[in-house]
Amino acid sequence: MAALITGIHHITAIASDPQKNIDFYTEVLGLRLVKKTINFDAPDVYHFYFGDEVGSPGTILTFFPFKGARRGQKGIGEATHTAFSVPEDSLEFWKMRINRFGFPVSDIQERFGQQLMRFEDHDGMGIELITSSDDERKGWSNGDVGTDEAIRGFHSTTLNLRDKAPTEELLLASLDYQWIGEENGRFRYGTKGKAGDILDILIQQPNTRSMQSAGSVHHIAFRTANEESQLEVQQKLMESGQMVTEVKDRNYFKSIYFREPGGVLFEVATDEPGFAIDETVEELGTTLRLPEWAEPNRVEIEQKLPKVSVKSQTQ
Ligand code: ZN
Repeated sequence: MAALITGIHHITAIASDPQKNIDFYTEVLGLRLVKKTINFDAPDVYHFYFGDEVGSPGTILTFFPFKGARRGQKGIGEATHTAFSVPEDSLEFWKMRINRFGFPVSDIQERFGQQLMRFEDHDGMGIELITSSDDERKGWSNGDVGTDEAIRGFHSTTLNLRDKAPTEELLLASLDYQWIGEENGRFRYGTKGKAGDILDILIQQPNTRSMQSAGSVHHIAFRTANEESQLEVQQKLMESGQMVTEVKDRNYFKSIYFREPGGVLFEVATDEPGFAIDETVEELGTTLRLPEWAEPNRVEIEQKLPKVSVKSQTQ
């Protein structure tokens, strides 16, 4: 049977200042703002989607920026690091660039035979850049970060948990993940074990509970091809005893949600229809897009949202 889950679809996190959030991910990291919309569950908060040119599944980091939000508390039961895949030999470029914008970067380290470095955005969100020689995805160039260095999309995510067994059971039995290996207490899983589908589990001590706020990952979304495959995953999850939600329409994909046994919120999102349904590829991210049900309140919504702009976005 074909795999129902093929890796990471998107990762959603919480930010504080919306303009700083846009500046960091578009200007410093050179991602494209592919959609500027609202949090469908809290319409007075933005929802930003950053990714490659079209916001391909596996490249999309999204944020709910709550202006003035305090920093979250790192701990167990959360995804602590979001890793992007970058070309080999690009880490020195990135180190200089990120430093130049005033953010400290770790030394270059090695993990599972690949090089990486880590840093935090202005909210303390943990980011890693990891080189991978077998990542054939093309990065998007903002004209400042060239395609030789550009981020290709996600490499992996790291979950910080108290116990790996129940989460591993879920990944293997219901989400088409496979065991890849262990290195220095880091347990690795993947659908194929390539950039964009890798999930690592770390068992951390001391195990203080995480507190979600600015700089925290809100949820990890896995990708599935379409609505049919999503219903199959939903069925499988229900049969394994997971409390999974009904299908929710997120305009650019359909979603189901459930909390994995280690405490991290998981989502399964469809690859279809994508971000070019309400603006052209050239226009992506340039204007506030609202779901149909919110359109009648556009004026009121726009008045409440802080004004933001994108500095470096060539089109
Ligand atoms: Zn999501």
